[in-house]
This record gives sequence, C-alpha cells and structure tokens, in this order.
Amino acid sequence: MRHTLRLHALAACLALAFSAHAADKATTIPDKAVTAATELRDRAMNDNTGYEFVSALTTEVGPRLAGSAADARGVAWTVAKFKAMGFDKVYTEKVSYPLWQRRSEHAEIVAPFPQPLALTALGYSAGTPAGGLTGDVVAFNDLDALKAADPASVKGKIVYVSTHMQQQKDGHDYGMGSATRTRGAVLAAQMGAAAYLLRSAGTDAHSRTPHTGVTGFTDPKQAIPAAALSLPDADQLERVLKEGKPVTLKLELDVGFAGTYEGANVIAEVTGRKHPNEVVAIGGHLDSWDLGTGAIDDGAGVAIAAAAAKLIKDMPQRPDRTIRVIAFSNEEMGLWGGRAYAEAHAKEVSKFQLGTESDFGAGRIWRMTASVKPEALGAIQQIAKVVEPIGVAYDPNKPGGGGSDLSQMHGKGMAALSLTQDGTDYFDFHHNANDTLDKIDPKALAQNVAVYAAFAYMAAQANGDFGSKPGAFAKDGAHD
Ligand SMILES: [Zn+2]
Repeated sequence: MRHTLRLHALAACLALAFSAHAADKATTIPDKAVTAATELRDRAMNDNTGYEFVSALTTEVGPRLAGSAADARGVAWTVAKFKAMGFDKVYTEKVSYPLWQRRSEHAEIVAPFPQPLALTALGYSAGTPAGGLTGDVVAFNDLDALKAADPASVKGKIVYVSTHMQQQKDGHDYGMGSATRTRGAVLAAQMGAAAYLLRSAGTDAHSRTPHTGVTGFTDPKQAIPAAALSLPDADQLERVLKEGKPVTLKLELDVGFAGTYEGANVIAEVTGRKHPNEVVAIGGHLDSWDLGTGAIDDGAGVAIAAAAAKLIKDMPQRPDRTIRVIAFSNEEMGLWGGRAYAEAHAKEVSKFQLGTESDFGAGRIWRMTASVKPEALGAIQQIAKVVEPIGVAYDPNKPGGGGSDLSQMHGKGMAALSLTQDGTDYFDFHHNANDTLDKIDPKALAQNVAVYAAFAYMAAQANGDFGSKPGAFAKDGAHD
C-alpha cells in the first residue's frame, strides 16, 4: 500500500516536472502583440488597400495566362506595385515551365441537329488538325463510368463525361470536378480516344460560360484535344444524345504546347527587426486563366497578402520576424511557382515560422485550421481568439494545408494554417469569363486582409516557433 502510494507520489512529481518543462517550451504570443494585432485587425476591416490592389491589377493588366505577354506585364506590374507600396525588399525568383497557348476554339454538332456549342480548351490540350476534327460521341455519366468502359468502345471517338457539382461553402465537389477534368482527359487518351470533352467543373447552370482548367497531360506526345462545354451546352448535348441517334461533333481547337517559358515568382518583404531571417510566408498566385480577368482566382489572393503585409509595415515598429509576400507564378497549370519555390527553399524550412496562401476567391474566411507542433497550440488558440469576433471559427480537428502553392512548402515541413473562405458561389465564376472584379465584395475582401494581418503579425511576434523542420507534418497527408 505504502509502496503504491510512494509510486503515485513519484508519478505525480514527474508529471508536474514534465508539464512545467512543456510550459517552458510552449510557444506564446505576448499580451502586447495580442493587443496590437487586435488593433491591426480593426484597422484592416476598414481599409481598402486590398480592393484597390486587385482593382488596379485586373484593370491595368487584365487576364494573366501563364507564359503570355500579359504574364510578363503582370510580373513587371507587381514588382512596380510592391515597390510603390514601400516594402523593404522586392525581388523575383525564376520559374520555368512548358508554355501552352490558346489561339482560337470552336465546336459544333454536325449531326443529327447541326448547331454551335460553347466550349473552351483545357490547359495542355493538343490542337485539332487543320480543318478540325470530326468524330462520333461516346458519353459517360461520370469518371468512374469512363474507367469501367471497354477501351474498344472509346477508341477513335470523342469521349464526353458529365459532371454534377453543387454549390457548397467549402466547395468539396470540386475534388470530383477537377479529377474529371485532369484524370479524365489522360484516361481517355490512354484508351485511344480522338478527343475529350467534359461538362464544365462549375456550378453556374444558367450561363454559357465554359470553365477551363488544366488537364493531367505532362507530355505533348500524350495529349489529345480536350475541352469543356458550358453547363447549358452540356445539357443540350445530353438531350441530343438521349434521342438515341449517333451524334457527330466537329472541334476546331487552335491551341497547344510551344516550348518552354521562364516566368517568375514576385516577392516582397517587411524585414523583421529582431529575427530578419525568420519568415512568416503569405501569398496568392499571380497568374490566371485567360477567359476572365483573374479577379477571384487569384488577384484577390495576392491582394489580401500584399494588403496585410502593408498594414503591418505601416505600424510604428517593424515586426520581430520578416513578413514575406509571395505572388506565385503559374499555379494554374500545375503549381509550377509553388513547386519551384519549395525546391529552392526546402533547406531553410526551419526558418519559416508559419505560412498560408489565399486561393479560393474573395469570400469571407469562416474557418481556421492549423498544422503546428503541440507546444504551439496555445499560440494558435491566441490567434483564434483575435479572429473569432470577425467570423472565423478554429477547428482543432483538421490539419492546416497552407493553401495551393504553399502546400509545397508545408510538404517540406513548414508549419501551416488553412484559412477557409466562403466559396458558395466560387465555382459559378472559377476559370470562366465571369471571373471579373464585380464578383468581389470589398467588405468581404477587407475581412480576409484583417485575418491575414492579425495572424501574420502574431506569428511574427511569438515567443517560440510553430514546429517547422524538415519532414515535419508528413502525417497530414497530401495537400492540393
Ligand atoms: Zn487559383
């Protein structure tokens, strides 16, 4: 009995010693920084720097297809803009990728009911031969039905696959929609199809605006012509198919690979006062598809990060650590900027205090999740408390992925947040001609800036780190 008691007492002592030790190691945010972040948050909610940024970018540059002349103008514009905003450092880092071009695109039903169709070619699609490609359609309800098909039934045909996306706050149907686009095209090519069509991965059933997006073709030799029909045009094709007669389409896509292009990530910094080499990384991607003006995807993301950093720069004193804004190159055709960045900076991953990227439109942030070391969870709770009054709920049960391009740095071991935006109408406009400035609510954009400014500042002022090191967070799984 006494023996057991003594063991209990010893265990209690050890537990106390352990928790005291854990408390010593815990990352915390000083009260002074919490107060300053709260003021920063409130200032950001009434500031229009972010909206002015995305308005000017989409007006003065417009669409920014990776590798186009507008891409180069966008890089030059952003360098000049970051300098004009007064950042301490502005520089670029090179990013190379295969160049893909869209010149023109047409489609029509040849038989049984001749009429035009609204469609758009997908990234890395092959062009059709001179004079166009005419073929019979074989249709599938979804990607699984195509997977299960006999290749003989597909060979030489124009494969059509439907999609069924619903509007959702977190946009989770896009997982299916993007897989139908990227993997469906590759699968159809492997099965010997002449061309691939899909019902756009979108939710705007009322608009004849097809949604583009990349395919999974990585080699010009494997690519076939691939395109997306607008939702009403896809519905029309499905009605024609239901009549049971053979359906013949003609596609004319003047698109394709055109060598290699060298673009750039554009980077701006607010230099840290105490630890200039330790970095809070925030960003968005500068490239866009060419059909709209790249407002919600992803001028908004670059604007949110740039405006948050500018508000921190305008405080009376520089933050303890560096705030780094990264405007990534060519996210749309396969995270080229994000992957190049992660390769170039993997060795310094321990110097990345915390990071995340905005790439889901301009709707309000409603959820925060985090992938950090256990000793930093208290600091995450402190951040959560500051952003909670402006509508952000912390969910401790999900990892933080870091966003699209910065998911690659997270994959190298960077501690990361996910700040989930309300994407209810995002897939009405995503990758189509309606991605324009009028879809952005300046007040919602300001809320995003407030969340980014508050979290970035608090992370920069923290006593301790969030657990970034090579290979950390591997258990989070893949992020894309
Ligand atoms: Zn995007």
